[in-house]
Amino acid sequence: MATVSNVELLPEVSAFLDRAVLPGYVGGAPITNSNNETFDTLDPGSGEKLATVTALSAEEVDTAVKAAQKAFDQTSWAKMAPNERGALLHRLADAVDQHKHIIGQLEALDAGKIQAQAVGDVSNFVATIRYFADMAQHIQRRSALAVAGHEAFTVRQPWGACGFIFPWNFPFLLIGWGIAPALAAGNTVVIKPAEDTPMSAIYLAELAIEVGLPEGVINVIPGTGPEAGAALSSHPGLKRMSFTGSPEVGRLVGEACGRNLVPVKLELGGKGAAVIFDDVDVADTAEKLAQAITFHTGQVCCDATRWIVHESIYNKFVDECLTRLQKVQIGYQMSDSSQMGPVVNKKQQERVLGYLEKGKSSGADLVLEGGVASVEGKNGFYVKPALLAGSLDNVAAQEEIFGPVAYLASFQDEAEAIQHANNTEYGLANSVWTSNLERAYRVAESLSAANSWINAHNVFPHGVPYGGVNKSGLGGGVNSVETLFDYWRSMSVVRPL
Ligand code: NAD
Repeated sequence: MATVSNVELLPEVSAFLDRAVLPGYVGGAPITNSNNETFDTLDPGSGEKLATVTALSAEEVDTAVKAAQKAFDQTSWAKMAPNERGALLHRLADAVDQHKHIIGQLEALDAGKIQAQAVGDVSNFVATIRYFADMAQHIQRRSALAVAGHEAFTVRQPWGACGFIFPWNFPFLLIGWGIAPALAAGNTVVIKPAEDTPMSAIYLAELAIEVGLPEGVINVIPGTGPEAGAALSSHPGLKRMSFTGSPEVGRLVGEACGRNLVPVKLELGGKGAAVIFDDVDVADTAEKLAQAITFHTGQVCCDATRWIVHESIYNKFVDECLTRLQKVQIGYQMSDSSQMGPVVNKKQQERVLGYLEKGKSSGADLVLEGGVASVEGKNGFYVKPALLAGSLDNVAAQEEIFGPVAYLASFQDEAEAIQHANNTEYGLANSVWTSNLERAYRVAESLSAANSWINAHNVFPHGVPYGGVNKSGLGGGVNSVETLFDYWRSMSVVRPL
């Protein structure tokens, strides 16, 4: 029996965790490391081992890329009519939807995510697959060109085998954002999940086989970043690559792809700001930002981590935030009463605590102390919410912490607010809070980032492009019609008349 203390596991989850070694999937069949190398994946809420997972090597990654290209070249997948491919993708979405509580429980255990939120991530995956499967059926792939003396057109073709590397914060949701447009366009995929959270990707590979996707269309290669991740991103057989994770690793992936001239999308970290004007409902804004910074324990790339507040409401705003953050119920992610679970691992816990120390020693005030949180009966990786304040040049205001920590600063006028918000190397997402919509649009458009939200933070309707600029990414982003076009290459055909 799987040993997850005091958790009522779904029978399918128990059976999954009871397996001796969780394999990867390549060409529709399970695969393990040829030297039997493995790694353990832990429950961040208890520190206990959940499962042993195969650690695939460069040799198996090579097999996976070849299997994906073979599926592209030799199965019906790339050439089938978009409505037939769409029907298969909807079948996959149906199967994921039917298993959403199983995948949600696996994901909650693996990522330390509040269980209801993990199930929500699975529903988001389903919606993403359906969104792109439907869109691909309605797009004209051939466009006639008006050129004197020639008959000419462009036609959009899928690329072939596409590689994907994902982080641990939204493992299943991000797989959907990544692979849905690639698959809907007729490509095949190789997925490298994060070491901390491989289970939902492995479950997906098994469902893909069950619903009858051609063998090799979805391949999943669990393994470490430096071995499996590096082997995938430097594989010359890939036709496209997509990486979601830190800027540090993003640079390595970008370099490797550059050497092979493989087009790459990088979705990287952030240091988002919330700019709060003096005409807001202070209590309501504090409530929403306290929720944002504690959502998934602050491990959200686009989080509002710098709160830039008009000086006339600064003290009231801080008081309202303190009242809320001090009351957040920190607990085991599988318990219904918990509002905020653990961070993903010991290293992440140390990172959060380290930034509180570094921020303080470089001059920031600790407005809310933070620190290690203890949860009765659980030896997991818990931290308390924290608030810092001071100069926005402080290390804790400049670098991504990835925990429930916000940095406060005040401003006098609109120009100063914009200057503060743009004082960052990142360029992912910011929000503007005001009841003056004219000002909201003006400030939103002045921020040096790829996404601006108004009177809300973390807003992702399908159809609105989401990506990063500067240190937050390059190559196009996700979740919109443009993303689907990224997964087709355009070729021209011309005949002199
Ligand atoms: P990370 O960069 O450490 O790891 C991400 C992935 O890269 C993992 O699968 C890892 O195994 C792999 N990897 C590690 N070393 C590698 C190497 N040498 N070559 C190839 N792959 C390698 O990031 P993380 O800690 O898992 O995730 C947190 C980061 O992800 C944060 O910076 C966060 O902001 C970012 N993120 C961005 C988005 C977005 O959409 N922009 C979404 C989620 C997370």
